Amino acid sequence: MLRATHISHSYDTTQAVRDCTLTVDVAQRVAIIGPSGCGKSTLLRIIAGLESGHTGHVWYHDRDITRLPAHQRGIGLMFQEHALFPHMTVSANVAYGLHGQAKLAIRARVHQLLDLMGITHLADRLPEQLSGGERQRVALARSLAPKPALLLLDEPFAALDRIRRDFLLDELPALLEHERVAAIYVTHDALEACRFAEQIVVMRNGAIIRQDTPQQVYQAPQSAFVATLLGMRTPLAVQPHAIGCQTAFGVIPITPPGADVRLLIHPEAGIPLGTQPQILLEGRVVATTFRPPWWRLTLQSLDKHATLECDVALPQPPLSGELYEVAVRLQAMSFVADDV
Ligand code: ADP
Repeated sequence: MLRATHISHSYDTTQAVRDCTLTVDVAQRVAIIGPSGCGKSTLLRIIAGLESGHTGHVWYHDRDITRLPAHQRGIGLMFQEHALFPHMTVSANVAYGLHGQAKLAIRARVHQLLDLMGITHLADRLPEQLSGGERQRVALARSLAPKPALLLLDEPFAALDRIRRDFLLDELPALLEHERVAAIYVTHDALEACRFAEQIVVMRNGAIIRQDTPQQVYQAPQSAFVATLLGMRTPLAVQPHAIGCQTAFGVIPITPPGADVRLLIHPEAGIPLGTQPQILLEGRVVATTFRPPWWRLTLQSLDKHATLECDVALPQPPLSGELYEVAVRLQAMSFVADDV
C-alpha cells in the first residue's frame, strides 16, 4: 500500500537517510527504531511529504506521491509538534479534518471516534482543560477522523508518564485494527516498538539494517548493536574451544558460527522453562534490580573482565558482593556480530 524506495536525504553536510526502502501493507503496523539521530524522523517526514530535496520515490496506493504536498497525500499524521487548536473544543478539533462533508456525517464520525477513544464526556472542553493523556487521545481521534489508510506517528506518547503511555500503547493496536489503518511508528524505545508493531525496522546511521517481526528481532538480534537497542547490553566475548566457546564465565557448549561474534545470553535465560538444557554460570553479584515479577542480577565474571545480566525467579535476590551460581538455558543464547 505504501512503498518508499531508495530514499536518501541530506541536511547541508549531514546525510540523514541513506538509500532506505520500506514497504507497508494494508492495515500493517510497522515500527522504526534506532538511536537518536539515526534518521527515523527524517524518513517519516519524507513519507509524510514534509521534507523536500530527497532522492527516491514514495508510492501510495500504487500512485507516485513523491512530489505531492503533505495535505494532499491523505496520510494521517500524529507528531508531537502537532498540538491541538487551543481555541477549539475537543469535538471541533476532531472534526477539523472533515470539513466539506455533510454536517450529519461529521457529527456521526466525531461521535464514533470520541466513543471509541472513551472521551465522549470531554467533547465540549478546550485543550487547556485536558490532561496530557486526554490530549493525546483527542489528537489520535483527530488524526483518524478522515479515515486515512495510513497513520504516521513520531514518538507520540514521549511526553506522557509511563502509566498513560502504557494505556494508550495497549489500546492503539486494537484501535488501528478496528479502523483498518496501517501505521508507521517511530520510537527510540525498542520494547515499546515490539508491543506495538508487526514488523520492526531498525535504522543505524541513516540506513535500514534490519527488518523482521518483533519476535525474530528479539530472539535473534544478529548484531550487538540491535541487542543493545533491545536492552541486552552484555554480549560476551568468545574464544574458540573444543566443545563450544570459552567466555569469561566459563565454557559454553555451543559453537560460534564464525569469527568476530559475541555470545548473547538473553536475560530471561535465567528463568527456568520446562526441561530445556541449562548450564551453571558463576559470578559475583554487583547489582540487583526488581523487574516484576523477576529479579535482574548483574553478575561480574570472576576474572572481572565481563558482566552478565540475568533474570532469576526468586522471592529475594542474593546480596551484592556474593558469589552466585545461576542456571542459564542454552536455548536463550544466540551469537551476535561484534559491531558496537
Ligand atoms: P532521529 O529521528 O532518528 O532522531 P533525525 O531524522 O531527526 O533522527 O535526524 C537525523 C540526522 O539529521 C541527525 O544527525 C540530525 O541532527 C540531522 N537533522 C535533522 N533535522 C535537521 C535539520 N532540520 N537541519 C539539519 N540537520 C538535521
